[in-house]
Amino acid sequence: MSNPLLSTAALPAFASIRPEHIQPAIAQLLADADAALALATSAQTPADYDALSATLGVATERLGAAWGAVGHLNAVANTPELREAYNASLPAVTEFFTRQGSDEALYAKYKAIAQSPAAAGLNAARKQALKLWLRDFVLSGAELQGEAKQRFAAIQERSAELAQKFSEHVLDATDGYAYYATQEELQGVPADAQAAARAAAEAEGKDGYKLTLHFPCYLPVMQYGENRALRERLYTAYVTRASELGEKPEWDNTAIIQELMQLRQEEAALLGFKNYAEASLAPKMASSPAQVLEFLRDLAQRAKPFAEQDLAELKAFAAKDLGLANLQVWDNAFASEKLKEARYAFSDQEVRQYFTLPRVLQGLFDIIERLFNVKIVEQAAEVWHESVKFYRLDRKGELVGQFYLDLYARPGKRPGAWMDEVRSRWARPEGTQQTPVAQLVCNFSSPQGDKPALLSHDDVTTLFHEFGHGLHHLLTQVNELGVSGISGVEWDAVELPSQFMENFCWEWEVVQQLTHHVDSGATLPRELFDKMTAAKNFQSGLQTLRQIEFALFDMRLHAEPGSEETLQALLDEVRQEVSVIRTPAFNRTQHSFSHIFAGGYSAGYYSYKWAELLSADAWSAFEVEGVFNAATGARYLQNILEVGGSRDAMESFKAFRGREPQIDALLRHQGMA
Ligand SMILES: [Zn+2]
Repeated sequence: MSNPLLSTAALPAFASIRPEHIQPAIAQLLADADAALALATSAQTPADYDALSATLGVATERLGAAWGAVGHLNAVANTPELREAYNASLPAVTEFFTRQGSDEALYAKYKAIAQSPAAAGLNAARKQALKLWLRDFVLSGAELQGEAKQRFAAIQERSAELAQKFSEHVLDATDGYAYYATQEELQGVPADAQAAARAAAEAEGKDGYKLTLHFPCYLPVMQYGENRALRERLYTAYVTRASELGEKPEWDNTAIIQELMQLRQEEAALLGFKNYAEASLAPKMASSPAQVLEFLRDLAQRAKPFAEQDLAELKAFAAKDLGLANLQVWDNAFASEKLKEARYAFSDQEVRQYFTLPRVLQGLFDIIERLFNVKIVEQAAEVWHESVKFYRLDRKGELVGQFYLDLYARPGKRPGAWMDEVRSRWARPEGTQQTPVAQLVCNFSSPQGDKPALLSHDDVTTLFHEFGHGLHHLLTQVNELGVSGISGVEWDAVELPSQFMENFCWEWEVVQQLTHHVDSGATLPRELFDKMTAAKNFQSGLQTLRQIEFALFDMRLHAEPGSEETLQALLDEVRQEVSVIRTPAFNRTQHSFSHIFAGGYSAGYYSYKWAELLSADAWSAFEVEGVFNAATGARYLQNILEVGGSRDAMESFKAFRGREPQIDALLRHQGMA
């Protein structure tokens, strides 16, 4: 009996893969990849791009594709047996790719290719792929020798430990807090949140309602709780988590932050950078800390008048309608929610009746076909669930790419929405042209009875977002693994195509084509659309400044070695510079800022705003030239989507827009112009 994971067919045999296939197939593919790595780095294999592709490229792609299929099933069709088989093979797969990424002989081989006379003759995509491989080796310490190399490894290990400790402290401090409220104190808090709090107390055999600092409990209290003293109590506990002002000294992250920052600066210095921010930006689109700081400060300055106005309106409303004369930070979420309700109340349920899935999908496909000159045709394929559909993208009768569409939530499927690569475009060494295949996964409510599925506007935006990633992967014309599709695209530029697609969902002309009332067939009324748009931009000035405060603190902390010694002073200075809301002196948000101390966002928090800037500015070309302008679509296709990671994102952006990114469109889209 043959193992479907070892099949070399173009598409994975999703319906035939069983848990018992995983271990033997992955073990064999790992052994093949190991042998390929040994062969590729031996003297037998010349320092030649094609030779390396034919050995290592083929073997690792095959392993990656099979493991990708297993990981995909683990995410969308989980069973205890599958999970066990997945977890059993995971460490060996991780170990192989980690080892490959730091293999010195492989690094030497890449360097030899780059230095060979043939290197000058490589095409642009290959040159870029080679450049990125070498860069990643250098950033992981491949150039270091002797003591420096050992120190680098020790820093990596200790930093990982500290990041882990940081997260644990935040989690422990979050878990470790409880306040048992009376029913009277919970006035205004939604019934479901109250029921959960009551059940949590009951489980401990206690009276009252157990309130914790976990978001599903914390947020409803802050947004809807009428009791001001309760809000203050919870807020205080929340913003002092894992700090010297928190519940327990053993959860204090102060020392961890200092050591972690010193190690990061030392690591950057070993690699030859002036500071950690520079090292972090080396593989990113933003070119220097100064450029990021300038961008953030410019945005802050322009958003500030709107934030001041947001705050003035909130204060006036709170005083007049809520009797909260002296608005405090723990009142902000509560008052804002009430103001939003008073101004823009509309029902999500009402909106859903218009966004019927077949119409939304048809509208989305029409946009893609019109702008990017392709045809989308449903096709038969082996799938993992009966509701999953499979499509192909053709251009002039020729296959461009294919995608699976798995839209509905069900047991055994991971929540959320994502795009994943099944295969990437590649001119294979054996001479065949591989076309890209993608997974597009959402978790919408399934259709009920004979009615079509109904989507919220958020759902629609999510679908468009993931299709943006999908198109980036599927429409690429690059033929080299490593830089085709989304591969090799800078981390802070990868959300450009996805956020770009979201804009269609806020365009009146488009929304009319996406809507078809489930009963009457009517399109969305203009009045409702206007309310939705206004609600989207509610307090965008304040929101923007809040994000900038985090981003500016993150960038300065990493760009100014030693600033961790005066962490609070640095944050105070940032707040002084950009914030319009006065933060209480006891606020220690930085002590639970996991994004930068325990996540991948160190000297990278700006990327949220950066990606918004890029996508808004790209979209503004369509606003000027027409949302369905085929020529603009073709320019976007050629300069952004098709080139993938084969050149720097800034070059691609400039090629499309004719200039560097500008901030105006971002401000306008968020009602700040
Ligand atoms: Zn995304």
